[in-house]
Amino acid sequence: MNGYAGTILRVNLTTGEIRKEPYDPAVARDFLGGRGLGIYTLWHEVPAGTDPLSPQNKLVASTGPLSGLLVPGAGKMDWTCKAPLTGGYASASVGGHLTAELKYAGYDAIILEGVSPRPVYLYIDDDRVELRDASDLWGRGSITTEETLKKRLGEDFQVATIGPSGENLVKYACITHDYGRQAGRGGVGAVMGSKRLKAIAVRGSKTIPVADPVRFWDLAHTMYSACKEAEGLAAWQRYGTTIVTSWCDEVGALPTRNFQQGSFEHGSNLYGQVMRERIVITDKGCFACPSPCGKYSYSRKHGIRVEGPEYETIALLGSNVALTDIEDVAYANYLCDELGIDSISAGNVIAFAMECFERGILTRKDTEGLDLRFGNAEATFALIERIARREGLGDLLAEGVKVAAEHLGQGSAEWAVHVKGMEQSGYETHNATAMLLAYMTADVGAHHNRAWAITYDLQVGRDQVTPEKVARVILLQHIRPLFDALGACRLQWVELGIDVTQYAPMMAAITGIERSWEDLLKISERIWNLTRLYWFREVPGFGRAWDYPSPRFYKHPATGGPTQGQLTSFETVQRLLDMYYAQRGWDANGRPTAQKLAELGLSGYV
Ligand code: SF4
Repeated sequence: MNGYAGTILRVNLTTGEIRKEPYDPAVARDFLGGRGLGIYTLWHEVPAGTDPLSPQNKLVASTGPLSGLLVPGAGKMDWTCKAPLTGGYASASVGGHLTAELKYAGYDAIILEGVSPRPVYLYIDDDRVELRDASDLWGRGSITTEETLKKRLGEDFQVATIGPSGENLVKYACITHDYGRQAGRGGVGAVMGSKRLKAIAVRGSKTIPVADPVRFWDLAHTMYSACKEAEGLAAWQRYGTTIVTSWCDEVGALPTRNFQQGSFEHGSNLYGQVMRERIVITDKGCFACPSPCGKYSYSRKHGIRVEGPEYETIALLGSNVALTDIEDVAYANYLCDELGIDSISAGNVIAFAMECFERGILTRKDTEGLDLRFGNAEATFALIERIARREGLGDLLAEGVKVAAEHLGQGSAEWAVHVKGMEQSGYETHNATAMLLAYMTADVGAHHNRAWAITYDLQVGRDQVTPEKVARVILLQHIRPLFDALGACRLQWVELGIDVTQYAPMMAAITGIERSWEDLLKISERIWNLTRLYWFREVPGFGRAWDYPSPRFYKHPATGGPTQGQLTSFETVQRLLDMYYAQRGWDANGRPTAQKLAELGLSGYV
């Protein structure tokens, strides 16, 4: 199997059994790897109706056929499981060096099942694979655990860990790697915690077979050259994802005070330029990356080092909770990283709690004395800690914004900004119909990385609702997640504009299987439709209503900024869904039709 290690590692935490299984070439052909292998495994191996935090749930850490090879950004690993946060599908991608190291050790994926009787970590050193005692690591922070294991085992081990949030089954706990890279969304860290698996440490020394090394080398040279010559490289490398903060603020897309508006009066304190000058120490990249967007920062005020904050953290733990100092955002980022908590969901949930506090739904008695008004940095830090440790109000907020609103009642669901139970990430969507539709229909919940369509809204008209706009969202939903199946970063295409169709000949050179770009998009569509079927299988009553956005965007106009007074009507929401379902070949309730499933080779999956 060119491009693959050819072996899957299956680890049963209950029995301690470790098996090395051959990777089925037909699965690799039809689902590629990464999130494709993830949903395939979930569908076939995890029984319908499984409790996400039970031993029956499985956590699939999967590389792709590009991972570990000299392809721009080929350092992405996907983590798939049934999601504790939503009860549906979770797939979270992490960069860094773990995915390359795992393939060099001889494995394309690890399937984790069962639950260990005691805390353990998984040790992988080429063919030597062991479950080792982690009692002394349990309770420690993610970054601290990574440092400890690297000291203990050697710097050449790549490590992924959970923090106290994962151990305490916070529904949006993440998995951390490379001192601050996160597989962030959906609660993958809680599933790892439920299995009492504290960490994975990997070292490898093998090679990955390539079908046509000469063609591969030529294509790699072309792709890296294009990255190097790209006009946007210098700015991207200098600012990374924070490059969009000022733009979002100016156009009204920067979530502010729990998405009440899209512009922050103190936003300029949080811009990428300010962050670069005040706290950034150096740049940092993932494996094989020609355009390192990571930033190591140091906050003198708080005495901490952190990777980041990236745009999403600035948006959710900056403007959305109304913090005005980039050093405070950096510290909130540090707490999330060390405690092992998704900073996007954390910022969203805390902003929700702040709005409830200001509206009188939560009182000082509920917050145990915290003055939870927007802009209170100390309260934000305290709440992050309480969520991670499930203390007081933090115990409720650890369940996610949807459950918290259901518990609090008093109309608070109006201010809970989520889709399918996943907290919306960093774009305000009162009047941005493509981005709104992207959030409504993303296969994990309200996450931006499936279709980052906000710039398209600005380009063609933000309230425009046309078949072309819907088609654009669908196309993005096929291209962007394809990278998560290939095991590579999409940002060289998004930010540097390299020709995305080059990935087709590159895949052919690596695997020896000639496929067009359209063939690869068809596989991505197959994966997308299988995830949709999975939602129908797992969530009772799943359907159209699960694609509705937060009432914030269709009932309550933006309170300020460029979109002040604007919203997207519920009628428009319905029109968007009608057009989207029709173009996808789904019925009026959003279920893939038999005809669409047959077209994708999924007839047996009904
Ligand atoms: Fe990693 Fe950023 Fe490079 Fe992508 S662009 S591979 S996320 S450093």
